[in-house]
Amino acid sequence: MFCGMNTANPNIRPRIRQLDDAAANRIAAGEVVERPASAIKELVENAIDADAKRIEIAYADGGKTLMRVSDDGYGIAADELELALSRHATSKIDGSDLMNIHTFGFRGEALPSMGAVGRLTITSRAQGADGAAMISVNGGRHEPVRPAALSKGTVVELRDLFHATPARLKFLRTDRAEATAIIGVVKRLAMAEPHIGFTLRDLSGGGAGRVVFQVDPQTGDLFDALHGRLAKILGNDFAANSLQIDAERDGISLTGYASLPTYSRGSAVAQYMFVNGRPVKDKLFYGAIRGAYSDFLHRDRHPALALFLECEPALVDVNVHPAKSEVRFREPGQARGLIVSALRHALANAGHRASTTVADATLGAFRPENRPAAPVYQMQPRPSGVSLQRAYEAQQPTFQETAPSFSGRVEPEQPAPVADQPLGAARAQIHENYIIAQTPDGMVIVDQHAAHERLVYEKLKNQMAENGVASQALLIPEIVDLPAERHAQLLEAAPELAKLGLVLEDFGGTAICVRETPAILGQVNAAAMIRDVCDELADLDQTQTIKDRIEAILSRVACHGSIRSGRIMRAEEMNALLREMEATPHSGQCNHGRPTYVELKLTDIERLFGRT
Ligand code: ADP
Ligand code: MG
Repeated sequence: MFCGMNTANPNIRPRIRQLDDAAANRIAAGEVVERPASAIKELVENAIDADAKRIEIAYADGGKTLMRVSDDGYGIAADELELALSRHATSKIDGSDLMNIHTFGFRGEALPSMGAVGRLTITSRAQGADGAAMISVNGGRHEPVRPAALSKGTVVELRDLFHATPARLKFLRTDRAEATAIIGVVKRLAMAEPHIGFTLRDLSGGGAGRVVFQVDPQTGDLFDALHGRLAKILGNDFAANSLQIDAERDGISLTGYASLPTYSRGSAVAQYMFVNGRPVKDKLFYGAIRGAYSDFLHRDRHPALALFLECEPALVDVNVHPAKSEVRFREPGQARGLIVSALRHALANAGHRASTTVADATLGAFRPENRPAAPVYQMQPRPSGVSLQRAYEAQQPTFQETAPSFSGRVEPEQPAPVADQPLGAARAQIHENYIIAQTPDGMVIVDQHAAHERLVYEKLKNQMAENGVASQALLIPEIVDLPAERHAQLLEAAPELAKLGLVLEDFGGTAICVRETPAILGQVNAAAMIRDVCDELADLDQTQTIKDRIEAILSRVACHGSIRSGRIMRAEEMNALLREMEATPHSGQCNHGRPTYVELKLTDIERLFGRT
């Protein structure tokens, strides 16, 4: 039986009452001002809505004793200050079209809420006004508006958050944790608004405080500005190793930057998503990103990216909980499809480009400026990733020509190797796995096993897309015994696997018989391959698309046909491999997101020897 929890005496029906404004504001404040960072977010969004070009944010003691946001926006007129502090008062909508909101704010709740839970002061000078005015509120009660000194914009100060509600104060975390949350909020907003300058100061020690974060307004078109801003916030390495995203479909646009697969992280921490300028954390995005990169990255690796989705406000519900960051799309499939296809398209266009990070990190360790002045034999390579910060485009080769096909066999009439190809002319193979090639302005080291694995994989995918993977019959079919559950799973997938060139049948008990394998692989160890495919099937997420599943299996299969490290190659073979890499999309990284080659420019080499 259901028991009413809220009624002390079930026989007395509580009467319905209208809450007074102060109580209503305190309740709203619970949602809007959860912690200092949420107050800062509201105040900075107000400044952005007011067309500010520079925004200064300051806090003390993790924001608990003081938060202040100053902007140079269009300000609030003296005779509207009081209204700005009353509930449901906003200049941003007139209430007639709730589906078409283009500003951050619209609820008219933030300022009154803050006035209910702290000591709030707003000082502002409206554009074109003769002077400034200010208003103070404490515990929901305001004092009369009075004249003040301010040359432009608005300063909102919130002191002693939750001083009147100690119970809520207790829920706040350490000053340090609250400050970290504030920094996170400001950085996210700064990513979305590259044309606005932001300064964040910690005033805890008194005086002018310590600048925690500072970015000037970026100039240039949106992409330039964004690229510059992301370099400041996510780092130069990210900027140098990311691809521009610019796509539009069905009235939804997606812009931003996403990292090459070779620049990945162990978690999704460096994934920043925005919908109509608002930071969001939404399953839809994470799923779409994983899908787009599934072909290049191991499931445990995650790209870094900042993506901005823009659409008609009517297509997305922003009227969700103010402190939460979920979104509801009217057509989630459209948004997801756009994200996946835009990312895949950018990755395909990256050609054989691989991350510069590996070479840069290694070189950074050896750069003369990082060397101790002491004798060279004391020099230790440093593990840290110091970037050379080259202009990435400068080293982007473009190729029109198609290269001869590399089949693992020697083609006698191979054209003489020419050094002016992007990946150069093969000069040597060392340690039976690394090809050293000379390029017009440097050298390239190729991991032949990783590179070949990727090429085989791309070929398998192409065959699959055309008319199925060509198979060849084994002279002697191979019998493989499997654990019972794997056996069943494999047989269930048999029709699907046949299209991938892997023909097998039940051999009774828990054994299967492998009859055909993909022709492109040549001779393979069928038993080892089958076990790998079994592992992959067991691992596969049932929610993945069929395409993703096929690719995952092909990727495993490709490993078995690759030139193993340890195989000595002749010059023609090595050159054929380089040419094919140039002609193959995605060949800059192996199927697990590691680079297949690294490049050293002559200038880098000269630096190693202290010649520049
Ligand atoms: P909302 O942003 O949802 O409208 P707020 O309570 O945050 O509600 O702000 C109320 C109103 O005060 C805004 O609609 C805007 O007109 C005005 N306002 C608040 N902050 C600023 C600011 N920094 N510059 C100019 N106007 C502001
Ligand atoms: Mg607001």
